[in-house]
Amino acid sequence: MSAAVPAASIAAHVLLPSGKRATADVGAGTDVSLHIDAAAADAVSAFSIPRPVAEPLRFGSWVGDVSCGSSVNCFNVMLCAHGAGTHTECVGHALAARPTLFREVAPPTGLCTALLVSVAPVPLVDVGTYPPGKADDAVVSLSALTAAVDAALAAESALVGATTTDDRYNVLKGASLLLRTLPNSDAKRTGERPITLVAAAARPCARKRDHASFLCTAPHQRLIHRIAAKYSGTNPPYMTPGAMSWLVERGVAHFVLDLPSVDREVRNGRQAASYLVVACTPTSCVAPPLTSSRAVPCPPVQDDGGHLLAHRAFWQLPPKADDASVKAPYSQRTITELAFFPPELADGLYLISHGVAPIAMDAAPSRPVVFKLTAAA
Ligand SMILES: [Zn+2]
Repeated sequence: MSAAVPAASIAAHVLLPSGKRATADVGAGTDVSLHIDAAAADAVSAFSIPRPVAEPLRFGSWVGDVSCGSSVNCFNVMLCAHGAGTHTECVGHALAARPTLFREVAPPTGLCTALLVSVAPVPLVDVGTYPPGKADDAVVSLSALTAAVDAALAAESALVGATTTDDRYNVLKGASLLLRTLPNSDAKRTGERPITLVAAAARPCARKRDHASFLCTAPHQRLIHRIAAKYSGTNPPYMTPGAMSWLVERGVAHFVLDLPSVDREVRNGRQAASYLVVACTPTSCVAPPLTSSRAVPCPPVQDDGGHLLAHRAFWQLPPKADDASVKAPYSQRTITELAFFPPELADGLYLISHGVAPIAMDAAPSRPVVFKLTAAA
């Protein structure tokens, strides 16, 4: 009997902008996608988009289903990538001319350097105003984003190497920024519906009414950020346009995040949803157990008015009224939404394969895979 042969070891060697050399085991990556699964009742969903449908192809009496007597399974799938799982979108998502991936916009064919950061969304009221938003929305602000990037780069100083902040940011040029929102748990993948407090400090709330994700029915209630795989009608956190513009200034080529969208949720206004109202005592703002919550009907929720300001900031589009002026060549930057970064992945530098499905649309399902970068020996 011959000795067991070990599998090939496959390593990538990377020369970073700092001049430092890094390496990654590209034979063993971590899938950071949420899979599209028409058969899974607990699959991720968002924007009230119907679940994907897979049905056997039919030619007359022939049915493409082995269980119906065919020799093969041959199924049609109807899906809208924006609400069914991880997907990558291009500038065509926002333009009537609909430039598409693989036609006008070329997703990367190789590995890109990437920085994974974790950020806790904060109440919009704490960071400024946003025309279509409510003060109590939760957002990823510019200051929170830059603080997280700075912390991640400081932790990777052996690879980033530079002494000045601007030099350290060089690693972001042409790279992918991966954003994990906090709190983070497997609930984003499995569809469970826990709730977790986000705001660090208790503060009185003057608005005694409930909103989509920020519920203020008692003086000392705080921001509640729901983490769940079923996002429809939950008004998830979103990016401020200022944060997206900063990514562009730093040369970030691809943005990957675990939220359904970089912009505020758009709702059709018809679908009912339930929100958890949690009462805090005046002296304590500790999260009460879930059993003390009650579900109430969803109030009408403003949508973002079609502004799509965060998307448009990243693609550097003019105001919507001037879209006719936007011609090829189009921005080659991509946004990947509804990714999932498992808690065991540490913030820091990675290589990423974006794994965009070769479908010429404004958006296509994708399967990003990341590989940890370490200093080369
Ligand atoms: Zn989308």
